[in-house]
Amino acid sequence: TSFGYREVREEEKTRMVSNVFSNVASNYDLMNDVMSGGLHRLWKDRLVSKLNPFPGMKHLDVAGGTGDVAFRILETITSIRRRVRQSTFDDYLQDETRIYVCDINPNMLNVGKNRAVERGLGEEKSLTWVEGDAEALSFEDLSMDGYTIAFGIRNVTHIEKVLAEAYRVLKRGGRFLCLELSHVEVPVFKDLYDYYSFSVIPALGELVAGDRESYQYLVESIRRFPSQEKFASMIADAGFQKVEYENLVGGVVAIHSGLKI
Ligand code: SAM
Repeated sequence: TSFGYREVREEEKTRMVSNVFSNVASNYDLMNDVMSGGLHRLWKDRLVSKLNPFPGMKHLDVAGGTGDVAFRILETITSIRRRVRQSTFDDYLQDETRIYVCDINPNMLNVGKNRAVERGLGEEKSLTWVEGDAEALSFEDLSMDGYTIAFGIRNVTHIEKVLAEAYRVLKRGGRFLCLELSHVEVPVFKDLYDYYSFSVIPALGELVAGDRESYQYLVESIRRFPSQEKFASMIADAGFQKVEYENLVGGVVAIHSGLKI
């Protein structure tokens, strides 16, 4: 049946994604810098500044990979605390801060844990690494103040399930933020971007990581991802209010946000 066929395809997709990230885990951070010319750092900074992290918050970073977003959140909270520390109550809040990095791929998480150790965050109680699937989270209902997913939702099999899970785990007043490679519609720039995606990226994948296929797959996954408007309507359909998005670099990436009220 066509249903049976779809099942196989979905399993294949999940396996394929898992292979891609097992292959790229050790090169992942380098490749991000090479392919985005370092820009992914600014995009992640922007994501975290929109989140407005605060001491004591419970935050879930899904598809958190090697920890880039989680480290930024933790750094922001630590610097807020340094600025505003007034009482031992603030220390209590720091102790209550929990940032969960959830990823389906243990290789990516291991790279992240090692990076945490390198940054002196190996013993950091606020940081927890959890192997898990964005489509079926192990966290409780109404347990998180914030939810982020950066360059992750594009790779999942059912976007709707991921959004439903995000909605479920957030508290009322909690914020959903998604950073993702998106669609460029600006004339001329679009042609340049197409050339970069289809010719330069796979070649760089081959050159730097010795893996053209994985990077070819990544480019295709960007093209298949819904447009900014369509994705915004999917977020609203999941129950979120005040759904907005911001394009960065003409739509090369977009940050979508929604509030659970
Ligand atoms: N957020 C990190 C960053 O921005 O650097 C990592 C992004 S990386 C492109 C995508 C990550 O999504 C990989 O670490 C992959 O293992 C993870 N991933 C893919 N499918 C997933 C799923 N269903 N649930 C959780 N993580 C998933």
